[in-house]
Amino acid sequence: MNKRIYLCLAHMSGKEQKYIQEAFDTNWVVPLGPNVNGFEDDLRQFVGQDKEVVALSSGTAAIHLALIACGVQAGDEVICQSFTFCASANPVTYLGAKPVFIDSEPDSWNMDPELLEKAITDRKEKTGRYPKAIIPVYLYGMPARIDEIMSIAAKYNIPVIEDAAEGFGSRFDDQVCGTFGEYGILSFNGNKMITTSGGGALVCPDKAAKDKIMWYATQAREAYPYYQHEAIGFNYRLSNICAGIGRGQMTVINDHLAHHKHIAQLYKEAFQHVAGITYHDNPSARHDSNFWLSTILLDDNMHVRGEENAYAEAVSGAVGGAAGVVHAGGSVHTDCEPNRNVEAMRLALDKEGIESRPLWKPMHKQPVFRNAPAYINGNAEAFFKRGLCLPSGPMVSDEDVQFIINSIIKNII
Ligand SMILES: *Cc1c(COP(=O)(O)O)cnc(C)c1O
Repeated sequence: MNKRIYLCLAHMSGKEQKYIQEAFDTNWVVPLGPNVNGFEDDLRQFVGQDKEVVALSSGTAAIHLALIACGVQAGDEVICQSFTFCASANPVTYLGAKPVFIDSEPDSWNMDPELLEKAITDRKEKTGRYPKAIIPVYLYGMPARIDEIMSIAAKYNIPVIEDAAEGFGSRFDDQVCGTFGEYGILSFNGNKMITTSGGGALVCPDKAAKDKIMWYATQAREAYPYYQHEAIGFNYRLSNICAGIGRGQMTVINDHLAHHKHIAQLYKEAFQHVAGITYHDNPSARHDSNFWLSTILLDDNMHVRGEENAYAEAVSGAVGGAAGVVHAGGSVHTDCEPNRNVEAMRLALDKEGIESRPLWKPMHKQPVFRNAPAYINGNAEAFFKRGLCLPSGPMVSDEDVQFIINSIIKNII
């Protein structure tokens, strides 16, 4: 085997080059221009709900600006789902604010509404103040119980910033994720549902909110013939070149969604017949995941070939070629890691040329957030120890899925 099957590689529609060429031909090689406006229009139409959209340089930048728009300042607390990628929580710390982590409910794996309410009242009791914002996440694209989260948020009058970076095109009760809260963030990084090579967007409630975000994203300039600043801004606007890629990608977003769902269906049907493996499916008819990544849980008592050597060697460099991983792990074990059978399965698949990856390690188990308050029920940690993400992107074929399923079954003993 010399072909490798990756988790979620970008796939170009062929239209991207036309938009990029136009940008060069018309000399719009800057962080504004016709592609940026066109991409924002496409996104606005796609998400619906009378929202406005600002295209930004990353999903992380979108969270950062949403927090600022919600008035988050140094010393404030912000509630964040623990079971997520670090970019959901990092911007809270950029502002000198403090994340408060909430564990997951077992059905969607996303923010547990019951724990959310408990945390809100407990923070008020302990600090005298309510948290300034709530960040639920659509992990692997799966819709959260956003209806319940929204009603709790409304009860305490706290704005919700939906992290839909992985959930672009997912729906709950037929409404696009990212349009329920005050703000919704999208990511177009290289491995997400669509890509602009790197980029993101903020879904805003109205034109005034959009204008304010745009102002912050372009260095907070006042309307004078010279540079005049009354606030600290950021250089967060998406470039017209990247937006051109985004416009090309928006011509195939529905094909991508259909493909991810199709791959999910293949896995789901196959794993129904495999003891020890549980496919993470939509928990109800109200959930309509984009299945950005298909994920499985391995039973604790299910055994995998090579399990006894699973952690024999420290990983050096990046698992699956993730960019920018330059710190060697240093130790073979941490105090919270995937079970041996999960690591053995990852290694076995890797040998066959298949990239898989453990579920995201919860933020409340990350050393960098060791002092953050956390409201925990054990679900996220349990999922992390048992789970694997499987190749799911537009470049994964039906034959690839069959090969992956066979490889998994072959390694179960
Ligand atoms: C990718 C991701 C982000 C950040 O998006 P970038 O565009 O990479 O900055 C935020 N939250 C989650 C859950 C993500 O997966």
